[in-house]
Amino acid sequence: MSRKILLIYTGGTIGMAKNPETGSLVPFDLDHISKAIPELTLLPCQIHTISFEEPIDSSNMTPTLWVELALMIRNNYDLYDGFVVMHGSDTMAYTASMMSFLLDNLSKPVIFTGSQLPVGVLRTDAKENLISSIELASLTNQDGSAVITEVAIYFEYKLYRGNRTFKNSSSNFEAFYSPNYPDLAELGVEMKINTEALWPRGNGPLRFHQSINSNIAVIPLFPGFNENIIYKTLEAGTQGLILRTFGAGNAPNNFAFTESLKHCIDSGIPVINVSQCRMGSVNQNKYAAGRHLQDLGITSGKDSTIEAAITKMMFLLGQNLGSIEIANLFGKSLRGEISE
Ligand code: ASP
Repeated sequence: MSRKILLIYTGGTIGMAKNPETGSLVPFDLDHISKAIPELTLLPCQIHTISFEEPIDSSNMTPTLWVELALMIRNNYDLYDGFVVMHGSDTMAYTASMMSFLLDNLSKPVIFTGSQLPVGVLRTDAKENLISSIELASLTNQDGSAVITEVAIYFEYKLYRGNRTFKNSSSNFEAFYSPNYPDLAELGVEMKINTEALWPRGNGPLRFHQSINSNIAVIPLFPGFNENIIYKTLEAGTQGLILRTFGAGNAPNNFAFTESLKHCIDSGIPVINVSQCRMGSVNQNKYAAGRHLQDLGITSGKDSTIEAAITKMMFLLGQNLGSIEIANLFGKSLRGEISE
């Protein structure tokens, strides 16, 4: 029996075309993609398509649209064997990370893809990305179960864990990178699936969440940082703070800065330490400049991407958990987003 795949179009370059008046790329409808990739009808699976009512440039992604997308998948979950989401590459890593938290206990694939060049352009990467994503979403084990049972990103011959990935290049076809977790698959003449790296198949029904609290702030440190930024952020009502620190998770240890962080912790605001380095992990015990953060009660984000940390914070705050519980859960892998 051929696999049934639901193709969801949210927007992004893949389906864009030039506005003749301005010359800028604007999202187009799904028909435009299907016409440009007639090969879709040759794939040995049944493909059905749905679309955001108004396809977006992914810079316009919002928590409301995240819930809308998660609902599209939840409402069709029992009707399809796999889901391929066409999404702009700019915020794809955020959306894939958020979907990994909202859609728990997956036993089917949710694969995000897009392209750097629109589908109508001769040298486009859209065709390969889309066709291979559908093939990956259709893969089965001998017992008929899906091979991929997690939220992933497929781009330029590689499949990545969605919540371990970030957009690394605005010009290369190989736009994404997952430095802290191995690729899930590499496609050459053959499909090489890295079975050991795959997230285990969920048992039982999908567990669906839809509460997101996006009232958070991300503050990057830099030499000359003024701690008033932290006080002002708190005054603005922030409920969760992610500090982007240096190297292995280090930050200045002068009195004024330390006091500003202490003020956050005393106010019950969870503070998570994520490094500005994209590769490697936060280790708050390595240097005295990190140790003081540990002593203050700041939680190490370890090797999570900033995209995964932001969406995890929004997800955990949405579950109405206290700051201690949020701090505990941050150190744990909920969906494979962090190395324990
Ligand atoms: N600006 C586009 C978007 O994210 C870029 C892309 O699709 O690659 O929607």
